[in-house]
Amino acid sequence: MKRVYLLGAAGSIGLQTLDIIKLNPHDFEIVGLSLGSNHDINHKILNEHHPQIVSLREESHLSIYQSMYPQIDFTWGNQGLIDLATYPKDGLFINALSGSSGLYPTVEAIKHHKDIALANKETLVMAGDLINDMIKTYGVNLYPIDSEHSALWQVLRGESYDDIEKLIITASGGSFRDLSREDLKCVTLENALKHPNWSMGAKITIDSATMMNKGLEVIEAHHLFHLPYDHIETILHQESVIHGLVYFKDSTVKASLSVSDMRIPISYALYYPKRAEYHHPLTLTDLHFKPMDFDRFPLLKLAYEVGRKGGLLPTVMNAANEAAVKLFLRGKISFLDIEKIVFEAVNQFQNKQHPSIEDIILTNDQIQLEIVNRYEKR
Ligand code: MG
Repeated sequence: MKRVYLLGAAGSIGLQTLDIIKLNPHDFEIVGLSLGSNHDINHKILNEHHPQIVSLREESHLSIYQSMYPQIDFTWGNQGLIDLATYPKDGLFINALSGSSGLYPTVEAIKHHKDIALANKETLVMAGDLINDMIKTYGVNLYPIDSEHSALWQVLRGESYDDIEKLIITASGGSFRDLSREDLKCVTLENALKHPNWSMGAKITIDSATMMNKGLEVIEAHHLFHLPYDHIETILHQESVIHGLVYFKDSTVKASLSVSDMRIPISYALYYPKRAEYHHPLTLTDLHFKPMDFDRFPLLKLAYEVGRKGGLLPTVMNAANEAAVKLFLRGKISFLDIEKIVFEAVNQFQNKQHPSIEDIILTNDQIQLEIVNRYEKR
């Protein structure tokens, strides 16, 4: 039995993780999890699984949950996520939170010697260098759940990183891939939320439409696979069947293919080093590839520049994007304003190299607060 913690249990990745665990009750024991603000989903989770510690989003719900589930220890908020990370039982710490709130719990879980399964790419975007230092210092493992990175991880199993020529991560192009930049001026939130291939949370679906998601993934790949940015490429592949390719120095290319089902990369991380029994076969059809269009998707180009510059700049880009996507989801700004806000924040920022975790978290909070305040009032 593998012990697991699950942050973001009520989100898209969290629920799919629970699906796998429910199908394999003898393989996993859930020690702790964090819930969201949908009480129907929360109660369904608590009635099906039996964690020892649960973090709620808001303090106001603590007493009612505690009285309904007296056998569980309840905690709440950001401190609740830290309570899970520091809980004195080892286990695989699955971070399926969306956004920058995922960073600090990962840091604390590493310090408490928990292996990390990471769906929260923001952790590596904001603090990849520090996280890599920490996993060495504390001797823990870091497993990616993001589908492209899981594909690359699988392709690289048994290979030496020294033999890699370059990595390619594929991009479906998101909800607006067939629209020109001119067309983007009048797109709606409702259309932005319709991803052609994947069923995912709102934030990442919008990030896929702006291609910011691929930008964050390039930075994530840089930190996971220790390659310079010149050796990490992206390609448009509308079917999302091939998730990642590795070109080796002997001219061999290896790729990983599967249907667009997040339960596959989640299972791989959950069962590693074994493979899961999970049936969702791929039927091969015509596959299409197009070179990435950096003029059509300027945020991806920006992400490469920001990744190369490093320091606090990736945090600034990520924070501005997170705030902008929140504003777009609330109907406060247009789709193209997301790009504008991210570019402005990055261009105005005085970068600083070798930031501490505290610098990173403070900068993230300041940038987000400033942007939300500025546009919320309009
Ligand atoms: Mg991905």
